[in-house]
This record gives sequence, structure tokens and C-alpha cells, in this order.
Amino acid sequence: MQGGANAQFSAVPMNLMNLKEKNSADYIVTGYWSQKAAEEAKKYGNVNLVLPKSSNLNGIPSKSEWNLDPNASYVYYCCNETISGIEFNYVPECGDVPLVCDASSNFLSKLLDINKFGCIFASAQKNVGPAGLAVVIIREDLLGHQLSYTPSVFDYKILAKNNSLYNTPPTYGIYISGLVFDWLKSKGGLESIQAANQRKALLLYETIDSSNEFYSSAIQKENRSRMNITFRIKKDGVLNEDLEKKFISEADKRYSMRELKGHRSVGGIRVSLYNAITEDHVKTLVKFMKEFQLEQL
Ligand SMILES: *Cc1c(COP(=O)(O)O)cnc(C)c1O
Repeated sequence: MQGGANAQFSAVPMNLMNLKEKNSADYIVTGYWSQKAAEEAKKYGNVNLVLPKSSNLNGIPSKSEWNLDPNASYVYYCCNETISGIEFNYVPECGDVPLVCDASSNFLSKLLDINKFGCIFASAQKNVGPAGLAVVIIREDLLGHQLSYTPSVFDYKILAKNNSLYNTPPTYGIYISGLVFDWLKSKGGLESIQAANQRKALLLYETIDSSNEFYSSAIQKENRSRMNITFRIKKDGVLNEDLEKKFISEADKRYSMRELKGHRSVGGIRVSLYNAITEDHVKTLVKFMKEFQLEQL
């Protein structure tokens, strides 16, 4: 489908909010993207926030704190929050209620049990291909429940019936995505990319954790993302934004490593280890991190 993941923030409620009479959906908000999706969904029905509002977003609160509504039309979550670097390492259990997942930033980074989901979507520009399109996978029995005013281009049933060719699709993006799928297969497919991604993330987190708090991750260990690794830089135990700026510019100057700046809403450093980043790239980064730390002593 066209319109990236943000279009799906509207398409999901327009197609699925109606599944149950109550016209209400459960949203598990663990960061920026799920928050944005929840805000959008409010236009189309009632949104029940599953997690306590006060919870800080450095991890995923334990199940005992969740407030799931058994009569919800669907349960929505984002399995990898790209900005803060929080990733679910399990698929939430929600009984008979269909599970909807924004997998934009970790789709095709690991194996995924499709059977556990009602709907999965992912914008292309992280691990699939050029921006502007989204992969949407949906259970067939969930088709045909769209709200009456749903635009045809957003109507899952119409899209499915027309083999995703209801209107002219973004052909260039789809073509490039096909080349990426071929590349992924040539690398040994999901199983081997999953293992490589695991090794990449581990190496980086080990470097952070063994830096005597010079580098520090705020994310609870069991929820740390393998795709987007965020950390801060401290000097003498105090957050040091000047050092962070220097880190970013020196990484570019010395090793041509770019886009290490954290998202503007959170600051700090963010290393996105998408499939295209190799283990050698991570080794270079780790070498630079150690060298940079030593220079500050
Ligand atoms: C990048 C991203 C989005 C936004 O995708 P667009 O194609 O820009 O709409 C949404 N959700 C997640 C998890 C993302 O990483």
C-alpha cells in the first residue's frame, strides 16, 4: 500500500475499529510511534490505553500492569519503537482479540510467527526498500469491516481483491524492494540475518555496558532494541551534550559514519543497525567508541 506507516495509522482503525460493537481498540503505547498511532485512532473510535499513563518509557511495563479490554476490536502495539530503542522480545498474548502490529523498524530483521497476528504492517524504508510504501499482512476474516466512509485506496478489502493493484502502485519502490528481498535470500534469509543482527547488537551493548558509564543506555536490558541502539555520553557521571556533539562529528570525520544523532525529540546518540549495516561496520564503530572514550580521560 502507498503512504508509508503513517497512512496505516489511519487505515488500521478505519478497517478494524468496527470489528466489535463497542467501537473501541486497545493501544499499547511504548513510545513515539505507538503514541502517534493511538492519537490518530481516536478520530475513528474509542482508544483504551493499555499501559498506565505515568509509566516512563524506558521499558515495557510487566503484564500485571496491563489493562486489556476483552471486548476491544483489536489490540495494537509497535514491536520496535525506533526512536527510544525499545523492542518487544515476545508477541503479546491477547486471547481472541486480533493483534495489530507496527513492525516498520524490525520487519525482516528476524523470524516472525505470522500466525499470532491479525494484521502486521511495515513501512518500507527501514529494512525493505524506498520510502512511501508499506507492506500490510492481514488475516482474511478481518477484511470487509471497514467504516462506511473509508476511502477506497485505504480499504483493505478492495486492495486485497485487486491484488494490491487497485490504483497504480509505487512501481519503483516495489521493484527496488524486490531486489532487496533477493539480496536478503542470498544472505541466507531471515534466519541468518537474525543471527547477524543479534551479534551486531550484542557487540554494541557490550561496549556500552563495559564503558564505566561513559556510554549509557537508559533502556531496560530485556527491552533493548537490536535495531536501534540509543545511548548517552557522560563525563564524571554527568550528561555531556557537548561531548555527544563531538562524538557525532568525529565519527563522520574519522570513519565517515553518519546519522548517529539521536532523534530530535530525545537527543543523545542513536545507532540504527538495519540489515544493510554489516558486522564490520559495527566493529569500526566500536573501535571508534573505545578510542573516543580514551581521549576524554
Ligand atoms: C519509520 C517509522 C514509522 C513512520 O513511517 P512513515 O513511512 O514515515 O509513515 C512508523 N512506525 C515506525 C515504528 C517507524 O519506525
